[in-house]
Amino acid sequence: MKNKRILLCLCRMGGGEMKYIEEAFADNWVVPLGPNVNGFEADLQRFLASAPSPERLDAACADMPEAPVKSVVALSAGTAAVHLALIGCGVGPGDEVMVQSFTFSASANPVRYLGAVPVFVDSEPDTWNMDPVLLDRAIADRVEKTGRKPKAIIPVYLYGMPANIDAIMEVARKWDIPVVEDAAEAFGSRYRGRCCGTFGRYGVLSFNGNKMITTSGGGALVCESPEAADRIKFLATQARENYPYYQHEEIGYNYRMSNICAGIGRGQMEVLDEHIAHHRRVQQLYRELLAGVDGITLHDNPSPEIDSNFWLCAATLDDGTHVSGEENAYSSPSGSLVGGVAATARAAVSAHTAVEPDAAVEALRVALNAENIESRPLWKPMHLQPVFASSPSYVNGVSERLFRRGICLPAGPWVSDADVERIVAAIASVITR
Ligand SMILES: *Cc1c(COP(=O)(O)O)cnc(C)c1O
Repeated sequence: MKNKRILLCLCRMGGGEMKYIEEAFADNWVVPLGPNVNGFEADLQRFLASAPSPERLDAACADMPEAPVKSVVALSAGTAAVHLALIGCGVGPGDEVMVQSFTFSASANPVRYLGAVPVFVDSEPDTWNMDPVLLDRAIADRVEKTGRKPKAIIPVYLYGMPANIDAIMEVARKWDIPVVEDAAEAFGSRYRGRCCGTFGRYGVLSFNGNKMITTSGGGALVCESPEAADRIKFLATQARENYPYYQHEEIGYNYRMSNICAGIGRGQMEVLDEHIAHHRRVQQLYRELLAGVDGITLHDNPSPEIDSNFWLCAATLDDGTHVSGEENAYSSPSGSLVGGVAATARAAVSAHTAVEPDAAVEALRVALNAENIESRPLWKPMHLQPVFASSPSYVNGVSERLFRRGICLPAGPWVSDADVERIVAAIASVITR
C-alpha cells in the first residue's frame, strides 16, 4: 500500500463506550429506554447549556444571554428528529415549510413525509447558510401568493458552520413562525458563545457514524421545555395512552433511541471536547497550508461571533482556477461512493446531470482519489434536485455557485497533521490556474 486511504469523516471511539454497553447487557436494558438513554440526554442537556471556552468569551459573545436550559429527547436518527419537530410545529398536508436549499436531503424529506411542501431559500455568501433577507422576502411572497403563512422555518448549519441565527430568529419573530434548527452537522458549534440547536423552538442533532459524535446511528431533538419533550417522547414511542391496554388516539412513531446506542453516546460524550478540538486543529492546518496555494479558498468563520466545529473542512476553487486532467472529467459514468454506501446508491444512468460541479472540481476529486484521498463535491442544493422540482424556491445563485466550485476535504479525529500536509500537497500539485 503506497499511502493509507484518508476518509472524509468518520467518528472514533475513545471514551467508556464499552463500559456503558456492558452495563446495559448486565442489567438487561437492551430496549429503547433505560439508564443510558436518560444519562445520554442529561449529558447532552449539560453540554448545550455550557459556556464556551474562555478564549471564545471575547467581546463578540460577551452579551449573549446564558443558554436557556433545554430538554433533549434521544431518537433513532436526526431525520426522525426533523420529522417529529415538524409535527410539533403543527405541519400537515398542504402546509408550506421554508427550508434552506443548500443542505442534505434529510432536512427536507420529512416535510414531504407529512404531505407538506418545502419552499427552498438560498444561502448568503459568507456563512453559506440561509440568507435572512431572502427568507423575509420569500415569506412575504408566500403569504401574498397563498394567503397563508408557512408553518416552520428550517435553517441548517452546513458543514458545522453557524448560520446567521440572530437575523433568522428576528425574521421568524416578525412573522411569528417557529424555527427548527437543523444542527445535525453542528454539534459543538456556537453562535455568540451559545450552542447551535438552542435558539429555535426545536433543534436537531445527528449521531450518525460520520457526524461529530456517533451512537452508530441516532439523533436527538432539543426541545424548549420538559412538557414539549414529553410530547415528543410520546410521539416517538407509538403514541400510547395511559391505560392498562393499548389505547391510541394519535398516530405514533417508533423513533426512540435504544439503550445500547445511548451507551455508545455516553462514551462519546467523554471525548467530545477532544474531538471538537481535533476538527478545529485540522481546519487550522488547512488554513495555514492552503494560504500558500493560489486558486483555492478555504471556507472559514466569517466573523468573531461565528465559531464552527469544522465538522467537514470545505473549500472552493476560485473563478478561473483550472485543474490538470479537467478535459477528461466525467468521461465515465462512475459515482464516487465507496464500500457499504455504494451498495445502497442506485446506479447512475448517465455521466451527467443538468447541474453538476465544474470539470475542474471533478478533476480535483479524481486526482485526490488517485492519491487515496476521499473528497466530495459540496452538497447539491435541493432546488436543483429532480425530486423537489415541483417545490417553489427563492434563489440568488449562491448555493449553485458553491455546488459548481466547491469541495469537501477530509476532517475529523482520524486525520493527522501529516495527512493534511499530504492532502494540501496533492491539491497544489494539480492546480494549474
Ligand atoms: C445527517 C444529516 C441529517 C440527518 O441525520 P441522520 O441521523 O443521518 O438521520 C439531517 N440534516 C443534515 C444537514 C444532515 O447532515
